[in-house]
Amino acid sequence: MYDDARKVWNGMIDRRPALIAYCEGTADVIACVDYAQTTGTPVTVRGGGHSVAGRAVADDALLVDLSHMRSVQVDPQGKTARVGAGATWGVVDHETQAFGLALTGGVDSRTGVGGLTLGGGVGFLARPFGLTIDHLLGAEVVLADGRVVNAAEDEHSDLLWALRGGGGNCGVVTAFEYRLDELGPEVMHTQVFLPMGQAAEGLSFYRDFMAASSESVSCFALFINVPPVEPFPEESFGETCLALVAMHAGSVDEGEAELKPFAEFGSPLLSVLEPIPYATLQSSFDTGAPDGGRYYWKAQYLNGLTDGFIETLVDRVDPLPGAFSNVFIEPLGGAVSRVDPTATAFPHRDVEFGLGISSGWEDAAEDGKAIAWTRALHDDLLQFGTGSVYINYVDRDEDRATDAYGANLRRLEAIGAKYDPHGMFRR
Ligand SMILES: Cc1cc2nc3c(=O)[nH]c(=O)nc-3n(C[C@H](O)[C@H](O)[C@H](O)COP(=O)(O)OP(=O)(O)OC[C@H]3O[C@@H](n4cnc5c(N)ncnc54)[C@H](O)[C@@H]3O)c2cc1C
Repeated sequence: MYDDARKVWNGMIDRRPALIAYCEGTADVIACVDYAQTTGTPVTVRGGGHSVAGRAVADDALLVDLSHMRSVQVDPQGKTARVGAGATWGVVDHETQAFGLALTGGVDSRTGVGGLTLGGGVGFLARPFGLTIDHLLGAEVVLADGRVVNAAEDEHSDLLWALRGGGGNCGVVTAFEYRLDELGPEVMHTQVFLPMGQAAEGLSFYRDFMAASSESVSCFALFINVPPVEPFPEESFGETCLALVAMHAGSVDEGEAELKPFAEFGSPLLSVLEPIPYATLQSSFDTGAPDGGRYYWKAQYLNGLTDGFIETLVDRVDPLPGAFSNVFIEPLGGAVSRVDPTATAFPHRDVEFGLGISSGWEDAAEDGKAIAWTRALHDDLLQFGTGSVYINYVDRDEDRATDAYGANLRRLEAIGAKYDPHGMFRR
């Protein structure tokens, strides 16, 4: 039971906390913090357990698990939601979509709202509506001294600033309050799978299409292994391909008109253009990264998608190491870029695209090879990056606080020191 309880999504993380507390509500979290303060035990917090670096669990620490605190209350008139900090995106999408509303967030239904929000929150709705933190109205937080405070625009506004992307080092958030947008329940989407021979052309098309399209369009470009299932052609099973997965955040008819050129590009292995329930689209990546697989990530923000970047990536990406690997390009820009870089702890408001190299495999014997491949590809592509990175994609062997926060780092550290003076949560 203890061995199951200490597991997180990344099967490479093998840490042994001193205690694991499954909290049912704020009072339990206060009791944990009081215990930690009295005994001098460091605290880690687990939302969805999806941090690739395994930041939710540490040797000899008290693990505060929030997975039982997952209720979501939607106010359809006010278009807001109060979300328990242990909720995952699947729960949030399910509850908000019942009212034709959505919270901009991640693209995997199992990821925790807690960690994702505290780092920023990038997904299909980022370009149309903004980051998750741009929709965060307030939060209930248990501080290191056991006090419960509300962080909002008019009280503890410095704490709210830090929670908007700062990584959750100031206390335990027990509930988040968000502003919602109207969406769905059906959205138009397209998925186009191109063989490697068309990947360079496909990425150039992707770049030009994104530059010309409305902000309602969001598209991820991913190198993946072709899934061994019909309707993919059998001879392509397991081969590396470029998948372009796009959705439109407006009406289904507008979406069809705007996404049609995408679906008709090249000679794909498979191309789909059809309406889909937004919540279904949101869980369509889940199976590609199963719980307990072995994972190692590298990431960086890009200086646009230059021809040199495309050429180098296409040249080096194939073959991917392991069945659960992908290399993805995710779009920002649009509504994300209309927020001042100093308005939240997340400073990357001027980048258009992020790159993630997320390697995943099954066999521990492959660890060395897969990690070396990931590092080498990242090093080859560094010349095309901005030098900055999204904190939620930083793995366990890197300290990239300066790259993740830039000019906002000093303010973030000062707020951390104010709310958590003895470093109970800072790791
Ligand atoms: C398969 C997969 C898909 C992903 N997709 C996306 C995506 O589409 N967009 C995106 O932006 N990111 C994505 N991510 C990255 C994700 O945002 C981070 O991994 C994030 O940390 C996950 O949050 P969590 O609550 O599940 O993680 P956890 O591992 O539980 O926590 C991560 C960190 O946040 C802290 N934390 C969590 N909850 C709280 C809380 N309530 N109070 C204080 N601290 C807290 C933890 O202590 C830890 O340091 C994805 C990750 C995975 C593995």
